Amino acid sequence: MKVAVFNTKEYDRQFLGVFAALYGHELVFFETRLTENTTILANGFPAVCVFINDDLNANTLRSLASQGTKLLALRSAGYNHVDLSVAAELGMTVVRVPAYSPYAVAEHTVALILALNRKTHRAYNRVREGNFSIEGLQGFDLFGSTVGIVGTGKIGAILAQIMKGFGCNLLGYDLYPNKACLELGMNYVELPELFANSDIISLHCPLTPESHHLISVQAVDQMKQGAMLINTSRGGLIDTQAAIDGLKSGKIGYLGLDVYEQEADLFFEDLSNVVIQDDVFQRLLAFPNVLVTSHQAFFTKNALTNIAETTLANITDFAEGRVCANEVKLDKVRVAKTTV
Ligand code: NAD
Repeated sequence: MKVAVFNTKEYDRQFLGVFAALYGHELVFFETRLTENTTILANGFPAVCVFINDDLNANTLRSLASQGTKLLALRSAGYNHVDLSVAAELGMTVVRVPAYSPYAVAEHTVALILALNRKTHRAYNRVREGNFSIEGLQGFDLFGSTVGIVGTGKIGAILAQIMKGFGCNLLGYDLYPNKACLELGMNYVELPELFANSDIISLHCPLTPESHHLISVQAVDQMKQGAMLINTSRGGLIDTQAAIDGLKSGKIGYLGLDVYEQEADLFFEDLSNVVIQDDVFQRLLAFPNVLVTSHQAFFTKNALTNIAETTLANITDFAEGRVCANEVKLDKVRVAKTTV
């Protein structure tokens, strides 16, 4: 099958190329993101392959459909960047990679927790400049502290397992409690209770209309003084201005982000010679207790291999007329939302 692959870097081309050869598909790589303005590049391609910061809004989808695209192969687990109703209306099939490596994301979450707590990012710079003072680098023992995990699916459950290993107490919030987490001793509570009792709050639920700005002014108010907030899920879960106000008041003592609401204009690009226009983002970077990585939690060789293999297997299922187990079905998404 001829596939237009958008938003690609060298590592995407390398990993996808290996599996394209094995599965016998023709991939044409584009560096540019897929947006309303770049759909013309996919003219005549029955399949389009995209990543998280491509914009599959109604106009993009209608334009793709009019050019003959029938399959949208997402190289991600999340599908909040796709207008699924319009895709269904146009008869487009949407497939995704539901679990390429939940370990990669959970482990990166722990990296952020440890770095923020022990201020490794600051210590690294100090020592390189010959400053061996440890003033201001004090942390706290993770042992005995309480971790609140919002969304205890695949990634949240692995994080729970790792934090249990540190000797943390576990609080959880999810629409459906996870048996594996209950067996670890996780106590499921409502969000206000989780916010009020957690030393570390980590977000692992998908971005949906219901979870948009789950961390609001009110949520920050409910947190413990000096709490650590980590988001490796989706930027839209946090109202960034509320987080900035929380950092200024000291309510949020540490903020670790791998995702940001307006990341599409920033992340994955080298902007080191450009004046960044996003003042909200620049304000975030000015705090010593904020650590931002640019959506790299998934970025392990294991995950890239799984993403490439599953994507090509999904495309093969479609090409050969088989039902794909990784299809994103609108009715299932609707059921999940109405139970919120
Ligand atoms: P999952 O589907 O296994 O788990 C998500 C959990 O969230 C489910 O248990 C679900 O019931 C729960 N949930 C849904 N809506 C909720 C709500 N409003 N409040 C609380 N819980 C809710 O997904 P996963 O594989 O664990 O991934 C979680 C998220 O991580 C994805 O949605 C994606 O946005 C993000 N992610 C980020 C990266 C990265 O590189 N930073 C990589 C992969 C995934």
